[in-house]
Amino acid sequence: MVERLLKDIFLIKVPLPGNPLKNLNSFLIKGKDRNLLIDTGFHSAKCFQALQDGLEKIDVDMRQTDIFLTHMHADHAGCASLIASEESRIFVSDEDKKGMENYFVPDYWKLVFQKYLSLGFSEEELTAVFQQPGWRNPIGEQGDYHGLADGHEFDLGTYRFQCILTPGHTPGHMCLYDKAKKVLFCGDHVLYDITPNITGWLEMENSLGKYLDSLEKMKGLEAEFAFCSHRKPLGKFQARVNELMEHHEERLEETLDIMEKSGKATPYFAASKMKWSVRTENWDKFPVEQKMFAVGEADSHLEYLFYKGRLKRELLDGLLVYFAK
Ligand SMILES: [Zn+2]
Repeated sequence: MVERLLKDIFLIKVPLPGNPLKNLNSFLIKGKDRNLLIDTGFHSAKCFQALQDGLEKIDVDMRQTDIFLTHMHADHAGCASLIASEESRIFVSDEDKKGMENYFVPDYWKLVFQKYLSLGFSEEELTAVFQQPGWRNPIGEQGDYHGLADGHEFDLGTYRFQCILTPGHTPGHMCLYDKAKKVLFCGDHVLYDITPNITGWLEMENSLGKYLDSLEKMKGLEAEFAFCSHRKPLGKFQARVNELMEHHEERLEETLDIMEKSGKATPYFAASKMKWSVRTENWDKFPVEQKMFAVGEADSHLEYLFYKGRLKRELLDGLLVYFAK
């Protein structure tokens, strides 16, 4: 499905079958010399087809089009190598470009395994996931990738977009902003219908602290049109920024409550006590993949409280344990 949003800006809805995110909003900006495609969907035939059909409808030739990835997640970056032409450059922040390179380093996944063990998962639970073929959504290795620094500008004719580095959802998430036209593409930094996932990272300390700082950057930003990456592309931007801040405040209160009651906890244990909107009877019945999201989220909140001086933490026999103060 293609929709013209503004002069020279089009939305291509890319379906993400079986994924709770439902769809990726890919955007195409027609430029004076070259066009810019923002985000691409999974590395799959379905996403490729939806993108190709959309581009054809608005008469866009990928030989005259570059790609900008708001971040490295596979539902944004996965299809880039499939849809890019030989002439397309693929832009992503320096930090997330490094993250995408890590994807192809086998030792990196050993470190990820170790990290989840340290959060409190059992070896059996993790092995079951890591050994499933295709448990992580692939991204393509081929392509003419270029790393970007904060503040990089794209002069596209009608629009002049500046990159705003907004770490938190990933280490190098970026938004695109045209100050004069008051148009913002906020990727997964701000979503209207769902809450962006904030997890602990190997490559980034205190991801929630960074995320909240990046949300602060959005406060007062004049954006008449702030387009996001999943489900409904438009909403009340400033109100949503405030809601997301309040959401994390409440989550932090909940986490502190759990810590006060239990005295000490691994992220895994803390997650088992937090409220989740997953429709299963109890924590033990959560699918392990869901547990990985939940424990990652608990980890980012505990880590934030540690950095704020509200909790202590220690690595005990390879296990990360937080203590109430
Ligand atoms: Zn994402």
